[in-house]
Amino acid sequence: MAATFSYDVVVLGYGAAGAAAALQAAQSGAKVLVVEKSSTGGGNSFVSSANMTCPQDFQAAMKKDGAAHFTDYLEESTQHTTPREVIAAFTKGLYEIEPWLKELGGELEDSKYDKMYSYYIPPMTFPHLDSAQGLNLTVRHLKQTKLSPADTGGRRIWELLHHHIKDNANITLSYNSRCKRILKDHNGQINGVLLQNDEFVPAPAVIMACGGFENDIELRRDLMGPREFGLLGSPHNNGDGFRLAQHVGARLWHASAEATVLGLLPPGEECGFALGVRKPGFIYVNRTGQRFVDETKIESHRGHIETAEQDPYSGKSAHDPMYMISDKENLLDPDKPPIVDFFSYQVVVNGYKWSEHSEEEIKKGWVIVADTLEDLAEKLDMQELPATVGEWNDQCQNPPQIDETLATTLDPMRRDHETLVPLKAPFCAIRIMPLLYNTQGGPRRNEKAQILSIDGPPIEGLYGAGECGSIWGHVYQSSTNFAETIVFGRIAAKEAAALAKSRKKLPLR
Ligand SMILES: Cc1cc2nc3c(=O)[nH]c(=O)nc-3n(C[C@H](O)[C@H](O)[C@H](O)COP(=O)(O)OP(=O)(O)OC[C@H]3O[C@@H](n4cnc5c(N)ncnc54)[C@H](O)[C@@H]3O)c2cc1C
Repeated sequence: MAATFSYDVVVLGYGAAGAAAALQAAQSGAKVLVVEKSSTGGGNSFVSSANMTCPQDFQAAMKKDGAAHFTDYLEESTQHTTPREVIAAFTKGLYEIEPWLKELGGELEDSKYDKMYSYYIPPMTFPHLDSAQGLNLTVRHLKQTKLSPADTGGRRIWELLHHHIKDNANITLSYNSRCKRILKDHNGQINGVLLQNDEFVPAPAVIMACGGFENDIELRRDLMGPREFGLLGSPHNNGDGFRLAQHVGARLWHASAEATVLGLLPPGEECGFALGVRKPGFIYVNRTGQRFVDETKIESHRGHIETAEQDPYSGKSAHDPMYMISDKENLLDPDKPPIVDFFSYQVVVNGYKWSEHSEEEIKKGWVIVADTLEDLAEKLDMQELPATVGEWNDQCQNPPQIDETLATTLDPMRRDHETLVPLKAPFCAIRIMPLLYNTQGGPRRNEKAQILSIDGPPIEGLYGAGECGSIWGHVYQSSTNFAETIVFGRIAAKEAAALAKSRKKLPLR
């Protein structure tokens, strides 16, 4: 008798990785079940900008053995913490995204945003690497069209995929349905999943697309240290993928890597707002009331890394709590609100609208206002603040002569001349901290998206895609997480569908 399974492929999680995997698996002839623990799906993908960094001239960047130049760069920027074959599979898959989306009725275009001084994302995160030379990158996202009308890039892609999934006869969507175990048979091959209600769903292939552990504070503390973080994305990503992978004997990687931006986490909330200040008149001060960094050059995925310093004497964070200090000219009367208003769970899902002159946020105490620096210093309990702002204002009037050969990009004296704007009363302060776009850690996968066991070889029938066990570890070339959801969702789906076909022919064990 041949093995009988209700589904060929079970996909865990219905963000972009799960959606791409489900659709591709169905296109490859598989019968698919998507198990999603929230009531709507979408995950971090829905609130994402879904920007995708690509070579400007993809043909040229693919010239050497398949995907060479961009692969070289990504390999060097991850400092070889991800095998080359895995990165090469990513760049090849990235190249294939555009035609696939086109078939689905979508179109990519270059992303263009207003300049923000507190939100800095150069297309190339590490332009000084050897492999970066001669490589020009651009950032692309899905164009807003009738079929993908949403304001935000992630929502556009997720809704486009959902449009093709929702009535697909080969895909069953199961919401409010949490996977609590992945199961293996006595040969170590995957044979199904166990849901929250103890229902067993037999299947020869499972794709883990269940996101990260942003909202599991204990796991975060274990893996990333004790620092306080806020969320920028979905509160539903609470590390199930990490635990499911451990139960099934998967090898883990990239646990301490993350992508964070500096922003405001309102007291009592779990999700925050990235700050999008449009004028350069602002500084960041640390717990001692002093500047410590070029505020305009903290790459907006490195909010934690650039501010994580420990004070060796006290053993505490050298900088927390940190504040953005600005003034009425900038924060209270801007052309646009001082938040990045085109993404984040607070904006896209909760529909939060920042008030026009921050009146509401001042009332709530999120923005602290004072007529004098002394008053502000008292409110923040930060005696050094008036001296720091005084020094800053002097520096703006008489910019220091810098020895260019010694300067580094993160030298506090190194702000570009046009950003040296003095602060004038009334003053305001916003407490800032790293907010997680996403974690990267989870089950380690290879170039075929197979999840590897702690002993080395792949666990037969188990695949990974997206943020759950992301290929990006150590440091991160910005805007490569979203593309990874589609690339590895599709690779995993093709492999899983082929495996399911071959296992259906085997006798039942
Ligand atoms: C505000 C914001 C902006 C971003 N902008 C960019 C960008 O411009 N470019 C870029 O490259 N990256 C960006 N990122 C990161 C990127 O969007 C994410 O890494 C990516 O979308 C993750 O997709 P995913 O499908 O792996 O996970 P998700 O989209 O988070 O989906 C995971 C799903 O799994 C479900 N789930 C979890 N556990 C279980 C379980 N046990 N059983 C069933 N279901 C489960 C969750 O409910 C969720 O729906 C951004 C992130 C945020 C938050």
